[in-house]
Amino acid sequence: MHDIFIIGGGINGCGIARDAAGRGHSVFLAEMNDLANGTSSGSTKLIHGGLRYLEHYEFRLVREALMERERLWHSAPHIIWPLRLILPHHKGLRPAWLLRLGLFLYDHIGGRILLPTTRSIDLRSDPAGRALKPGFERAFEFSDCWVDDARLVVLNARDAADKGAEIRTRTKAVAARREGDHWVVEIEDLTTGAREEIHARMLINAAGPWIDRVLGQTIGRNDAHNVRLVKGSHIVIRRKFEDPRSFFFQNSDGRIFFAIPYEDDFTLIGTTDEDFPGDPANAAISDSEIDYLCASASEYFAEPVRRDDIVWTYAGVRPLFDDGADAAQEATRDYVLKVEKKSGAPLMNIFGGKITTYRRLAEAALEKIEKQIGAKGKPWTAKSVLPGGDFGVDEVEARIEALCTQFPFLARAHARRLIRLYGTRARTLLGDARSARDLGRHFGADLYAAEVDYLMRLEWAQDAQDILWRRTKLGLRLDAKQAAALDAYVSEVMAASDAPAGSGKDRV
Ligand code: FAD
Repeated sequence: MHDIFIIGGGINGCGIARDAAGRGHSVFLAEMNDLANGTSSGSTKLIHGGLRYLEHYEFRLVREALMERERLWHSAPHIIWPLRLILPHHKGLRPAWLLRLGLFLYDHIGGRILLPTTRSIDLRSDPAGRALKPGFERAFEFSDCWVDDARLVVLNARDAADKGAEIRTRTKAVAARREGDHWVVEIEDLTTGAREEIHARMLINAAGPWIDRVLGQTIGRNDAHNVRLVKGSHIVIRRKFEDPRSFFFQNSDGRIFFAIPYEDDFTLIGTTDEDFPGDPANAAISDSEIDYLCASASEYFAEPVRRDDIVWTYAGVRPLFDDGADAAQEATRDYVLKVEKKSGAPLMNIFGGKITTYRRLAEAALEKIEKQIGAKGKPWTAKSVLPGGDFGVDEVEARIEALCTQFPFLARAHARRLIRLYGTRARTLLGDARSARDLGRHFGADLYAAEVDYLMRLEWAQDAQDILWRRTKLGLRLDAKQAAALDAYVSEVMAASDAPAGSGKDRV
């Protein structure tokens, strides 16, 4: 009998699993695909207050999110880092005084200590202006943070598992029923087809955009219309500008979008907001969204953004709480937690939420969970660190340097990539390697078997896609033949070992 059963291995499910396991609850989490395969790898990857939400008077959400920025940065300085964003003033759109007022609030309502404050810049003399069309003269430069969203999910899952939680991927919750004072959840291993029943005192529906489907199909309720599904898409193009800062642009339709330096050689542009009635698993960028993003970016950049520049696209579906807003971009981004205890065992549904507020969402969820099943511990995550993040926020360069000293055969860019993904655990991954040969088979770019094995052993990776697009972004660097060779290697290792993925046991 587990204390809680969580459906969904996105940021919210994994954040709750980690918090609960750290308090001593016994936790079982089922994810039907790979961790972070849903919305949690399809975000704009900002740890941000959400400047735009001030326009919708979402002060509670903005304040809470701003407070989380520095907390999360301290908890995972390898995968989270500060960004400076440039917001050009566009004549005819929001007036400069309004932007200044919003940014003043942004700087002052939410626990900013280390991140620098807003400043005004003159784009005619500031290097950032070189990327833009002439005519943009004034801008504001402000702070937010960047996060590797998919890795944030995996690190929460890793920490939860290290604290005793059972995390099963490629495992679908197919049916759940109340039996007396507890739940019986039937799960199916989607690789083998094997079914099993898991008993738990409380059920948490953290299925993100699938939340209503889980309520309808798994739990058997037919009154579930709580969530508004809003698709957002991004394009990744070859690097458009040299400046290390990001851009926050306004559009004439009132929306905003970002252009962010991405994976050294690229620029990430997005996002869109479109109601999406389909299956979230099929979300993909549409032609009209591509046109919209290219046209919007070309309004600002001196060099137009064309379809030919695009090297990758991705789309995610926001599971927003349906607050009846008319336009998709106006629907609340805040989270809503609803506990139901009709007869017997309690159920909690998680609606909405941001990557940025996942830790607070988990704390709020635990408060409600412990009211139902009894408390075992206290809130503990505010000052905790995630796996590999046990170093200071200003020590990243020193960590890269130290890794190069300990493993002199590593190219600096390789050492940087490993520290940025794995932090202090990069040493575990490299083991006692003394040369590149010791890292095993080479798959392309700077990916070797040592990293692949580490990802299968400790991070639940089960195919090339998991490795190339969610644990790393080497999908941008490996060609189709190299990706196929990687896939064949992973399948071979999986077939040769019965150690479950992520179990910490060696597969090779
Ligand atoms: P998901 O990540 O979708 O996780 C739900 C999981 O449940 C899925 O992995 C799914 O496979 C699994 N599941 C479903 N049914 C079952 C079942 N029956 N059995 C087992 N598993 C099941 N937030 C920010 O803070 N900053 C941003 O910059 C930002 N940008 C965004 C941009 C876009 C375009 C979008 C779409 C969102 C953005 N967000 C951002 C919001 C954020 O990404 C989401 O709120 C968050 O990822 C939702 O996480 P989740 O865990 O609720 O859902």
